[in-house]
Amino acid sequence: MNRRQQNAGFVCEQCGARVEPLTNGSYRNHCPFCLYSKHVDEEPGDRRSTCHGLMCPVDLVYKRKKGYQLVHRCLKCGIVKVNKVALDTAQPDDLAGWARRRAAACISPHILKP
Ligand SMILES: [Zn+2]
Ligand SMILES: [Zn+2]
Repeated sequence: MNRRQQNAGFVCEQCGARVEPLTNGSYRNHCPFCLYSKHVDEEPGDRRSTCHGLMCPVDLVYKRKKGYQLVHRCLKCGIVKVNKVALDTAQPDDLAGWARRRAAACISPHILKP
């Protein structure tokens, strides 16, 4: 598969959002809204995996050279992968929304009032 095909938009299987290709020269490998990814690569970009499980965003790490990276874990086979966040593009990753959802999960529903 060539780079142009890899950079096509897609519909997120987790939240149903219409995701446009990145405009910063790289290709999109996760949804900017719910940050879920899909297990399609063995090595980054090769699209050779036969798993095709949804990958849940479980963590955010900072690497000095690469900046912030999302840690994804496949809900089907359990593999863990690290992906660069996409911020300098149309439809940037909603990291704040992700953090807010995680924070909400830590709070007892009795205390949490909108
Ligand atoms: Zn999504
Ligand atoms: Zn998998």
